[in-house]
Amino acid sequence: SSQAAPADSGEGPALPPFDYQPPAWTGPSKEEVLRLRKAHLNPAIFHHFKKPVMIVDGKMQYLFDETGRRYLDAFAGIVTVSVGHCHPEVNKAVIEQTQRLQHTTTIYLNDQVAEYAKELTDKLPGDLKVAYFVNSGSEANDMAMMMARLYTGAHDIVTLRNAYHGLSEATMGLLGQHTWKYPVPQGFGVHHALNPNPYRGVFGNDGPAYARDMEDLIKAATPGRVAGFIHETIQGVGGAVPLADGYLPAAYKLIRDAGGVCIADEVQTGFGRTGSAYWGFQNQGVIPDIVTMAKGIGNGLPLGAVVTTPEIAAVLAQRLHFNTFGGNPVSMAAGRAVLRVIDQEQLQGNCAQAGGYLLDRLRQLQERHDIIGDVRGKGLMVGVELVKDRQTKEPAVQETATVFERCKDLGLLLGKGGLHGNAFRIKPPMCWTKDDVNFAVAVLDQALSEL
Ligand code: PLP
Repeated sequence: SSQAAPADSGEGPALPPFDYQPPAWTGPSKEEVLRLRKAHLNPAIFHHFKKPVMIVDGKMQYLFDETGRRYLDAFAGIVTVSVGHCHPEVNKAVIEQTQRLQHTTTIYLNDQVAEYAKELTDKLPGDLKVAYFVNSGSEANDMAMMMARLYTGAHDIVTLRNAYHGLSEATMGLLGQHTWKYPVPQGFGVHHALNPNPYRGVFGNDGPAYARDMEDLIKAATPGRVAGFIHETIQGVGGAVPLADGYLPAAYKLIRDAGGVCIADEVQTGFGRTGSAYWGFQNQGVIPDIVTMAKGIGNGLPLGAVVTTPEIAAVLAQRLHFNTFGGNPVSMAAGRAVLRVIDQEQLQGNCAQAGGYLLDRLRQLQERHDIIGDVRGKGLMVGVELVKDRQTKEPAVQETATVFERCKDLGLLLGKGGLHGNAFRIKPPMCWTKDDVNFAVAVLDQALSEL
């Protein structure tokens, strides 16, 4: 077993015991991989760390580098490895399906896609009973927007500042963060409402006050009728920012009164991650008309979904519509296994428990470190924002980068980002234990103390 304290620093808290050590790495060296990456991969792929880390193995909530050193994963491949790296049940389902049938066109009946559509839609409330399968979150949101426009006959879409819904041309238009925006045509008919951010927003945690701004926006910037409203239920890429209390019920009413449909982007918040609910939107007591999913739905396999009502789904039957890889049987097998594992291992309950404990521990840390401006989130979807001054809330960008790098050296792989680049995003595999939380908080404590 690999129980040793972090190797390259030889200092810092010890990882919880874990009974697995990867085989010795025999692939290309880290230097060679770095060279290839620099020469042949998209240069926009940011080098997050000054000293990059190479990952060659993953088991449950842990990742291993080429030296066999173990790290605690707090980011889960950007909230994608939901039930754990190489989870045995997901692996088994994928391997069995790979050996039986890897691909077939959607013009044939296939058991996996039909059964998964039933199992997935069983998890949704109300009349959300028809699933379309795609390969990514961007594709899912593209499709949701098209459905909203076709169904309502209207064009205008309301989104939120600080939103992230993907980087296709259409979804880039929904983006509310300059950091990801390119100067290309995008966002026709898209309007950005005030972000109901309890920490930085002008109305604090007063959701209905932000909705009054949306009412004004609809009156001022649209013909009065809108196609829809799309929102995350905790803004993920934006820094794990929850929407102010009571925002969604008020916003949904305004949009529906203006003839639009409500689209919940559950790409990060779905499948029990928030602990208190299976779907993020349930935390605000609303039922959307369209729900989009990706990332954790397939535990790392390319899979996305749009689930809607039979009435809205009917608009896409007016013409031909299909997606080559959407509903691929291997991805379907993974998706089905993920649903089973979440239930069998009670991972939603674990997100509530481990996540609640994490938030408590982080709030204690906040009492000792003035630089922690905000600790927020739900379940295992948590944001920690560093500020130079709690009054002015000036983002502590450089300090965030320093702590982020130091945590990596101490064996904790965090997520970092947010609109101002000063937020840690803690969104680990849903199997994190209390011991993992203790380790993560101890590492953060040490890295913050060393600043
Ligand atoms: N929606 C949300 C909430 C996301 O966080 C992301 C990706 O980070 C997307 C959509 C886009 O998903 P993809 O990168 O699979 O296109």
